[in-house]
Amino acid sequence: MKIIVAVKRVVDYNVKVRVKGDGTGVDIASVKMSMNPFDEIAVEEAVRLKEKGVATEVIAVSAGVAQCQETLRTAMAIGADRGILVETAAELQPLAVAKLLKALVDKEQPGLIILGKQAVDDDANQTGQMLAALADLPQATFASKVEVCGDKVNVTREVDGGLETLSLSTPAVITTDLRLNEPRYVTLPNIMKAKRKPLVIVKPEDLGVDATPRLKTLKVSEPAGRKAGVKVPDVATLVDKLRNEAKVI
Ligand code: AMP
Repeated sequence: MKIIVAVKRVVDYNVKVRVKGDGTGVDIASVKMSMNPFDEIAVEEAVRLKEKGVATEVIAVSAGVAQCQETLRTAMAIGADRGILVETAAELQPLAVAKLLKALVDKEQPGLIILGKQAVDDDANQTGQMLAALADLPQATFASKVEVCGDKVNVTREVDGGLETLSLSTPAVITTDLRLNEPRYVTLPNIMKAKRKPLVIVKPEDLGVDATPRLKTLKVSEPAGRKAGVKVPDVATLVDKLRNEAKVI
């Protein structure tokens, strides 16, 4: 069984982004970029399935600028066998990425497609769901456990009330939650090995996909600063303020 893993190049989660002066977006010039953390978990899960003998090949896919090749090399250093970059300098929204992935799913015929539950830059939490709809495949989002049993995959999901386990027929789409696994550290020998793994570059047009954005960002602004708090002398004043000022009790 082949597994496709989607890996997005995003602003590193430790970076505090700043809104551009003209309010058109956030300033990402010269900030550190990394693989989306949920996608690292997705690659780790796919590689573990290969190490268990369940998967035969792990294909990492990224869509975006030429530098996404670095993200694909990281995925290959974790253990993916090959990489596909869908290269474009244009803005990519979740629907466009889902269409690109659908085209690659049609071509590669994987048994599983694993994505992160959300990208930490746009926080959309849409691509996996859109891919499942476009490809007409079963989906399990927010996975915290994945077990492949024959032509079924059992996925435990984190839901509001606790845990839910779904049994899906493959091929299927899975999106990863934080507690699915802890990705391994990438070692230097594996980084060197990853440089020799195959990486193919295609364009959205090669896949017959129109990746034009459908949404327009009107304005991006900083959240309002927090106001300073006040100290109250006793519990009675606190209760009075909660009741009459904040009106929360
Ligand atoms: P989103 O719907 O944007 O929150 O992204 C959810 C997941 O879709 C990410 O964690 C990735 O696995 C995948 N994804 C989104 N955009 C891209 C991209 N440009 N390249 C590769 N994978 C992506």
